[in-house]
Amino acid sequence: MFPASANIIIIGGGVLGASAAFQLAKDGHQDIVLLDRGPLASGTTPFAAGQTAYLSVSPDRLPLTTYCLDFLENFADRTGYPIHFNQHGSLRIALTEAYLPELEAHQVAADQLGHELKFLTPEEAKELVPTLDVPDAKGIIFIARDGYVEPKSVAIGYASAARDLGVTIQTHTKVANIEVTEGQVKAVYTNRGKIQTKQIVVAAGAWTRQLAQRFGLDMQVVPVRHQAYVTAPLEDVAPRQPIVRLIEPQIYVRPEAGGLLVGGYGYRPVSFDMDEFPDRFEIAALEPDLIYYSRLHNAATTYFPTLRQAAVVQERRGLPTITPDAKYLVSTVTEVKGLIIATGCQVGGIQSSPAIGRMVADLISGQDYFGVLSAFAADRFESVYSDAQLRDQCETVYGNLYLQPH
Ligand SMILES: Cc1cc2nc3c(=O)[nH]c(=O)nc-3n(C[C@H](O)[C@H](O)[C@H](O)COP(=O)(O)OP(=O)(O)OC[C@H]3O[C@@H](n4cnc5c(N)ncnc54)[C@H](O)[C@@H]3O)c2cc1C
Repeated sequence: MFPASANIIIIGGGVLGASAAFQLAKDGHQDIVLLDRGPLASGTTPFAAGQTAYLSVSPDRLPLTTYCLDFLENFADRTGYPIHFNQHGSLRIALTEAYLPELEAHQVAADQLGHELKFLTPEEAKELVPTLDVPDAKGIIFIARDGYVEPKSVAIGYASAARDLGVTIQTHTKVANIEVTEGQVKAVYTNRGKIQTKQIVVAAGAWTRQLAQRFGLDMQVVPVRHQAYVTAPLEDVAPRQPIVRLIEPQIYVRPEAGGLLVGGYGYRPVSFDMDEFPDRFEIAALEPDLIYYSRLHNAATTYFPTLRQAAVVQERRGLPTITPDAKYLVSTVTEVKGLIIATGCQVGGIQSSPAIGRMVADLISGQDYFGVLSAFAADRFESVYSDAQLRDQCETVYGNLYLQPH
């Protein structure tokens, strides 16, 4: 039966909305409804590479590291649903001396948290990843606890655990608008009817800005297309080889089904206004940018010559959300009581999902477990960008994601 009212409504059943639903239910909140316009995890989440890169040099993100890592490493214990965390480490590679200080900063972060990090020679890196060709690299670090997950399994794991704790899940339920009276949330209007509530969490991924505009808010976040591809099986690709991150060409490469999954930043950043798409648009229908794919492939071939012969068997793309300062947007909203926004993952929503769900629950209970919520507040921006400026700035942020301190 479709609910007429709820204590908390979460809009969006991607990895963030599902994580928030789980954390809220785990905290003991009752009468929670999770809504999605499609099936669960049908937005950008299923297209992710699912990689983690926890040793952030950012003071806002480092406090989330231990919690997120511990959560993914013990996902089945936490949720009751197993995921496969392929935890074979990552290589972060500076091709020029300009990025050596960044690698050293990673060492400091690793020491601070007691994590294993080693500097490797190009020959040692090649032993781990035989198809990698970076003989002149200036610095290579190996981060032992990085890895990758199947992203959809993470979202479905959270949602299933949330359902077990009493959360009601309503799919094919699209929120058209929100009723706000005297600055307080009152209800959501969906294609299946109205639900009264005093607390809403908007975790609508690419649609978050558009939805917030419907009720008069200008959230500083936009969707930017991100693309990756997967090759057919290749000789010398080991299933347990680490992820490779090349800083200057902004490329990541990891094993996938015997082949390589290749993605990268800066190859042609394009942001979107979701109003440009038809109402029934699905992320799966996002057109490929073939120029981007071709530039990315040519660049990756320089460091992985084996890619020259590779047949592409799968393309992955979606619309992750970017903010003008490359920080998450996890916040209450001054203008509207009872509203929380959870988005702006900068192409890292899978890995950060445990902490973002936790922060949403903290915003509702008035806590700040990580002590970093003010860094992700919606009102942190000194100047509000116009639409065009915002898109421009977010494309720049996205296009330089590996080149900024990470
Ligand atoms: C190629 C690629 C590689 C990536 N690699 C990584 C990686 O290695 N590691 C990593 O951590 N991240 C990665 N990401 C980013 C990651 O996919 C995103 O950060 C994450 O999936 C965002 O999750 P979300 O829940 O915010 O959004 P989504 O998954 O898009 O979920 C939003 C949900 O909201 C629903 N919705 C929207 N509007 C409404 C409405 N009006 N009413 C009801 N429901 C609504 C949608 O249907 C959707 O299910 C990658 C992304 C791509 C595209």
